[in-house]
Amino acid sequence: MTKEYVAEPFRIKMVEPIKMLTREEREEKIAEADYNLFNLKSEDVYIDLLTDSGTNAMSQEQWAGVMRGDEAYAGGSSYFKLLETARDIFAYQYIQPVHQGRAAEKVLFPVLLGDGKYSISNMHFDTTRAHVELAGARAIDCVVEEASEPELRVPFKGNMDTSKLEKLINKYGSENIGVVVMTITNNSAGGQPVSMENIKETAEICHKYNIHLNIDAARYAENAYFIKQREEGYADKSIKEIVSEMFSYAETFTMSAKKDTIVNMGGLLGVKDDEELFQILKARTISNEGFITYGGLAGRDLESLAIGLKEGIDENYLEYRIGQIEYLAGRLDEAGIAYQSPAGGHGIFVDAKDMLPHIPYYEFPGQALAIELYKEAGIRTCDIGSYMLGNNPDTGEQLEADFEFTRLAIPRRVYTQAHIDVMADALISIKERADEVEGYQITWEPDILRHFQASLKPLV
Ligand SMILES: *Cc1c(COP(=O)(O)O)cnc(C)c1O
Repeated sequence: MTKEYVAEPFRIKMVEPIKMLTREEREEKIAEADYNLFNLKSEDVYIDLLTDSGTNAMSQEQWAGVMRGDEAYAGGSSYFKLLETARDIFAYQYIQPVHQGRAAEKVLFPVLLGDGKYSISNMHFDTTRAHVELAGARAIDCVVEEASEPELRVPFKGNMDTSKLEKLINKYGSENIGVVVMTITNNSAGGQPVSMENIKETAEICHKYNIHLNIDAARYAENAYFIKQREEGYADKSIKEIVSEMFSYAETFTMSAKKDTIVNMGGLLGVKDDEELFQILKARTISNEGFITYGGLAGRDLESLAIGLKEGIDENYLEYRIGQIEYLAGRLDEAGIAYQSPAGGHGIFVDAKDMLPHIPYYEFPGQALAIELYKEAGIRTCDIGSYMLGNNPDTGEQLEADFEFTRLAIPRRVYTQAHIDVMADALISIKERADEVEGYQITWEPDILRHFQASLKPLV
C-alpha cells in the first residue's frame, strides 16, 4: 500500500546542483572505479544514498549559529550552549563533546573493557566493534531472532534478546562483561527500533549483575518517534519525554551527532551522574580529542550541534522524516520488492538475495544491485552483505552473511518526493530484468574493512 507522502516542513532557499550523466558515461565511471562505489567521485553521482551520516542539510538557524560560533580555546559560549541543551534533553549531569561517534567510543571503551572482557550489544556498529576489539575485548551481538527475517513485520525488530543476554552473562561470568551496549535504532539490523520495554528490561538485567549499560545513541530521536507510534502508553508523550525516559535507564551514552542531530560533523559522550568516571573521561578527552570545552570540534560546530539537537527531536520533522522512508517502502510493497520490513528509521535495506536469486553470496548480490542502481539511475548505495563481511581471518575463505542487503540510506532534509520516486522507479526497472544482472568477482582486496577499497570485475 502506498503511503501518502508527508510534505516537507520546510522550504528551500539554497540549492546545490546535481547532474545526471548518460548511461554510457555512468558505465564508464563505474568501470574506472573498479566497480567499487566508494571510488566514485560524488560529482558523478545523481542521488547519493551511500550513508545518512554527516550528509544532512543544516537549517538557517544552524547556519546562523555557525557565524556565532565562539572559537575560544577554553570556556567558549558555544560549549556552554551545547551543555545546557544536551543536559535539558538527556537529563544527564555530564556532557562531553567529541569530534564524532567513534571518538566517544575511543574515549570510553578502554575504561570499561580490557583483555578477557566482553561487550554485549543488540548489535555493534562496525566502529563500535572495532573499539571493543582495540580495547582487547570481544564483541557479542544479541539481537532478537525476528531481525533475521526480512519479510517479518514486527514493531521492534532492533530489540535485545534479553533471555539470551542473561544466558551470555552467566556463561562468561558477570565480572567479565565490561559493558552492555544498547544501539538505538539498531543500525546494522536495518535501522530497526528498540522498544522502551526492552531498554528497561535490559537495564534491569544489567543492574541485577552490576554491569555498565551504555546507549549507542546515533539515531535516538528516530527511535523515540517509533516508540511514540508503536508502543502502548507513549502516544500522548512528547518526543522529549520519551528521550529522557530512554536515557534514564543507562549510565552513559556515546553518540554520533552526524545522524539524528542533523550536523555534518560531531559527537557526544554523556555520563548520567558518575562524577568519578567523568573525571577519567575528561582526562582521556584532553589527550585524544582536545580540551574539554571543544572536544575536537570548532566552536561553530558546537553551536550548530546545540541547535541540531533541538531540531532533531521536533515531531513535525520526525513525522516527515520517517514518512519519507515509509513512502518509499510503500512504493516497493506495491512492486513486490522485498526489503527489511517494516521500514526502519534511516533508509531501506533492499533484499538483494530475493531480487537476484541467481547470484550466490560469493558473487555478492548486494553489491551487484548497488552497481546496477548506479548504472540505471546514477544512485549510489552500498552493500550490507557478504561483500562487506569479508573472509574468515583463519582460512581466508569468503564468509556467508545472514543477509544480502543493498542499503539506500536517506540523508536528512536533502531529497524530495521526486527523488524518492526516481529511487523506486530504478529498483522497479531493475527487478523487471533482474535475470540479466550479473555477479561480481574481487580482483584485489586489503586485509581489513575491504569493502571500502577492494577492486571488482563483472562475471560475464
Ligand atoms: C555512525 C555510527 C557510529 C560511529 O559514529 P561516527 O560519527 O561515524 O564515528 C556508532 N554507532 C552507530 C550506531 C552509528 O550509526
